[in-house]
Amino acid sequence: MHITVTEGDITDEAVDAVVNAANSSLLGGGGVDGAIHRAAGPSLLEECRTLRQQDLPDGLPAGDAVATGAGQMPARWIIHTVGPNRRAGETDPEVLASCFRRSLETAAELSAESVAFPAIGAGVYGWEARDVARAARRVLDEGPWTGIDDVRFVLFDADTRKVFERTLTPR
Ligand code: ADP
Repeated sequence: MHITVTEGDITDEAVDAVVNAANSSLLGGGGVDGAIHRAAGPSLLEECRTLRQQDLPDGLPAGDAVATGAGQMPARWIIHTVGPNRRAGETDPEVLASCFRRSLETAAELSAESVAFPAIGAGVYGWEARDVARAARRVLDEGPWTGIDDVRFVLFDADTRKVFERTLTPR
């Protein structure tokens, strides 16, 4: 598996699956979620609404993941995961690790070979980038993650990118 860390806008990534740091409602939000909904176009919100009506009436719980199409984005799928909201008292790093694990499991089910992750939880939900990168590292080390050979961390600012580089660049 090839792991890379870059700085940029994750909505531009030409990967099989882009992971979204969504909220439980799946109906859009700020940060990377807002950017993904803007880039994907209205078909994404429609698909999320259908998911809510059919499979997830109470929303997607923190630590879980679900896939949709990617609308007009270059990716094929979006894997929505919900980070624990540290600012609301959800301070268990296991839930953060579960976001990465469930996202990778979902990618494997889709036979996605390339997956791009943002810094789940490191925005509005208040986690330190270092804790997010450590959770990602730990879950990647649980692998083999057969079939997934390109994992990219696409960070929005230089500070977060540097933290992820330190934790995730092959040693
Ligand atoms: P959360 O609610 O899980 O904390 P946020 O979207 O608020 O999610 O933030 C998660 C991370 O995504 C933050 O580091 C934020 O800077 C980053 N981010 C925001 N927009 C983008 C984007 N277009 N591409 C990649 N990362 C982004």
